[in-house]
Amino acid sequence: MDVRVDYGMCQDHGQCAIAAPKVFQMGDDGKLVYDKHPEDSQRDEVEEAADVCPVQAIFLDES
Ligand code: SF4
Repeated sequence: MDVRVDYGMCQDHGQCAIAAPKVFQMGDDGKLVYDKHPEDSQRDEVEEAADVCPVQAIFLDES
């Protein structure tokens, strides 16, 4: 699974880090860091993170 966050849209709210903490984390500088190629076992959590992102900045590539 490929995950992409549009940093131009992301406002570092951190909801994704709550929904999928193994994939999304807030760095020491308050900026989002994330795993671009998480395990498929994380799919449900990543989809939940994409749903809760207030600016819809998380994109999943199923290929
Ligand atoms: S929830 Fe959305 S806006 Fe907030 S840190 Fe995650 S990707 Fe960025």
